[in-house]
Amino acid sequence: MKVPLLDLQPQLEQLRPQMLAALTRVLDSTGYILGPEVSAFEERVAAYSGTSFAVGLSSGTDALLAALMSLNIGRNDLVLTTPYSFFATMGVVLRLGAWPVFVDIDPKSFNMDADQAEAVLAADRKNGQQIKAILPVHLYGQCADMQRFAALSAEYGIPVVEDAAQAIGAEYPFVEPDGTAQWRRAGNLGLCGCFSFFPSKNLGGIGDGGMLTTSDSDFSAVVRSIRNHGAEPKYFHQRVGGNFRLDAIQAAVLAVKLDYLDQWHQARAENAAIYRQHFADLGLVNNPVELPMEVYAEVAGAAEHRHHIYNQFIIRVPERDELRRYLQDRQIGCEIYYPLCLHQQECLPAQVSRNQHFSEAEKAAAGSLALPIYPDLQAEQIAYVVEIIKEFYSRGS
Ligand SMILES: *Cc1c(COP(=O)(O)O)cnc(C)c1O
Repeated sequence: MKVPLLDLQPQLEQLRPQMLAALTRVLDSTGYILGPEVSAFEERVAAYSGTSFAVGLSSGTDALLAALMSLNIGRNDLVLTTPYSFFATMGVVLRLGAWPVFVDIDPKSFNMDADQAEAVLAADRKNGQQIKAILPVHLYGQCADMQRFAALSAEYGIPVVEDAAQAIGAEYPFVEPDGTAQWRRAGNLGLCGCFSFFPSKNLGGIGDGGMLTTSDSDFSAVVRSIRNHGAEPKYFHQRVGGNFRLDAIQAAVLAVKLDYLDQWHQARAENAAIYRQHFADLGLVNNPVELPMEVYAEVAGAAEHRHHIYNQFIIRVPERDELRRYLQDRQIGCEIYYPLCLHQQECLPAQVSRNQHFSEAEKAAAGSLALPIYPDLQAEQIAYVVEIIKEFYSRGS
């Protein structure tokens, strides 16, 4: 049995007529840059995320870049972030001449550890506060501990930019100042949230695309201007931006798909539950397979909320590289996100990377493996994947 890591074909077949209609509409309009398709989709993403504004951008990377540029982050500024993420999280910081300051991850969530962030911010304040932004990542589709980051943001007067590229629609149990708990969505937990519509994300386009959500109207106006070379009005530039615009054709296709997003999230969650059942039935849980933790599952009312959207289903295993090869040899798709931490990347100057060690991030990079979890995955495919993993760990015993 063949089990791809991701198969977008069934989704395409289901939506082909609607997607073709959307494509034809844009084609016939002859208006290909920004315009009504983009603004309509922006309004829908803002409403979906619970923010007042959304700005369509050319990719998740450009959403992060535009956010940092709009905050005037530049040469030798520092940005507090996680060492365990996709490269873009750090890449945008470096491109602006700023430097990442890393804190290790919480091994339960794979997300930036708030206690360590607090300690680093306190030390930085003593040094004259060079840290200009906090950039947590909601890795694999589960939010970072945003209650803590919001508190640190308020205490230090530093904005939080959420890298929500993998987490559109993920909910976090935020306790409001009046003590009431409210499940807020990714992108509505900091100053702004940055989304990616890369085809493998839960909401994926037919090419690159991104979005920034915020409820700060001044900030959204700056991002809007930055995405279009900082022109305001046209041909008059008070600031330098870039061409970071979302294509009308992507907005039109994504608007079709947005109607199905919650249904796809649901299918991913059900697939995760099926995995858990099979791993339990075969006696593999923590022996030796560590399953992904749903860190907010114990919060009151969690069952009714999407606290993990499972952009990826990540297990931790011994002999990870051998297991990966074993699965691949049997036509089971799997992937390592990410084999090398950000602080270990060669593009960093030695004085930045030397002597930096983040043991939890490094452990995650060494032992984690993504299994297929896409919405159209079949229950028998999941059973097969788990059986093959059982077979791998039973070799020679
Ligand atoms: C996908 C991703 C990005 C970048 O998004 P693109 O649309 O590919 O530019 C940034 N951060 C994280 C965590 C991602 O997973």
